[in-house]
Amino acid sequence: ERVREIFRETVSSGVGQRTRYRFALAGGSIRYIESQGNVVRDDAGKVVQVVVISRDITERLEAEQALHESNRQLQATVRELERHNSENAILGSMGDMLQMCKSVQESNGVLAQFIDKLFPNTSGNFYLLNFANNLLEAVVTWGEAGLAGDPVIGKDDCWALRRGQLHMVEDARSKLSCQHLVGPPRGPYICTPIMAQGNVLGMLHVQFGKEEQEQSAAIRQGRLESRKGWALTVTEHLSLALANLKLRETLRTQAVRDSLTGLYNRRYMEQVLDREVLRASRNRRTVGIIMLDLDHFKRFNDAYGHEAGDQLLRVMGDFLVANVRAEDIACRYGGEEFVVMLPEASLLMTRNRAEQLCKGVQSLGVNVRGELLRTVTASVGVAAFPEHGESVADLLRAADMALYAAKREGRDRVVVAEKR
Ligand code: GH3
Ligand code: MG
Ligand code: MG
Repeated sequence: ERVREIFRETVSSGVGQRTRYRFALAGGSIRYIESQGNVVRDDAGKVVQVVVISRDITERLEAEQALHESNRQLQATVRELERHNSENAILGSMGDMLQMCKSVQESNGVLAQFIDKLFPNTSGNFYLLNFANNLLEAVVTWGEAGLAGDPVIGKDDCWALRRGQLHMVEDARSKLSCQHLVGPPRGPYICTPIMAQGNVLGMLHVQFGKEEQEQSAAIRQGRLESRKGWALTVTEHLSLALANLKLRETLRTQAVRDSLTGLYNRRYMEQVLDREVLRASRNRRTVGIIMLDLDHFKRFNDAYGHEAGDQLLRVMGDFLVANVRAEDIACRYGGEEFVVMLPEASLLMTRNRAEQLCKGVQSLGVNVRGELLRTVTASVGVAAFPEHGESVADLLRAADMALYAAKREGRDRVVVAEKR
């Protein structure tokens, strides 16, 4: 109707016009047409013809649209690059500061300063592995409260930790989200393990906000890829810094090991027990303590020599390590006295473990000049937090008293401390 109207106008006014319109073909497809009308007059100046030249401009319009779209993408890329530049500068300053850190605690402080600038508009957790219980604890949290996920997680709760590589979930409805998230993710998220020499040290979890939907799939895809790359760059920095610090801490912990048995020494055990008891009372958990003393060890020494005695202590150390959980701490408490601390173990569990150890000691032996000596037994005292005390000193005293009751009652047995 509009084209007809223009035609009539052209005839009556004598002025040709140019117009664009849509044209539906018989098959139903739409073409875009541009028409230019020109009038032809007779000698008297009267309009006698209208010549219309029509051009199919569909392809041209589509090309224009594509150009427009790629321009938008280019602009998005430029913005992305600008952001990267400033983030790179931030990463550089963080790297410089991490190098100056003397402890993991210090490096956590540095990370806390920088992390939300490295990942703007995100929430997340930075976890470190606690070697004492093999759990990962959030040491730095940023962003919206409650969005970062569980503060303490197991290695099995995270796909990145299970697979030892970056895990990215692009779609909030994905079935492959990790268990450490609280509720379904709001947008895409990334987990990257922090590794050193093939061992997990920690994990970085970054939760992005809801995606702006109006952006094209190509832009979204490009941005996800660049986020992935950026997360890897940041974790590389962190891994390096942490590996260095851990190495230093390992050197320091060599002072906490007993050189004969390789077990923890008394000082270290008391420190850790202190921490565990505090944590247990905060979280309403239990801690078990087993104290073992070899029976008639003096006789063994006298009969077979001090060297054989040392050998037996070493065998005892290996036996303890092999028969407690990774999160338990076995230490050489004194000459032929040992303490095992069992975080989160109940009194009953601790007693069962003590019975098992007591039985196990009976089959220990050492080879002395080709002779297998198997004459070892142990007396064992058991105590637990909170049943036998609120302080480390009370707990150790209770275990010690139980141990001496076991000696009095005939040795080679387990006695549980009396209830307070
Ligand atoms: P009980 O059943 O009452 O515990 O008797 P025991 O002989 O084990 O007890 P006691 O405490 O009287 O003796 C402990 C002995 O352990 C004294 C010492 O000769 C020996 N001992 C302590 N430390 C070491 C060590 O590092 N190496 C060796 N070979 N022996 C040690
Ligand atoms: Mg003894
Ligand atoms: Mg003793």
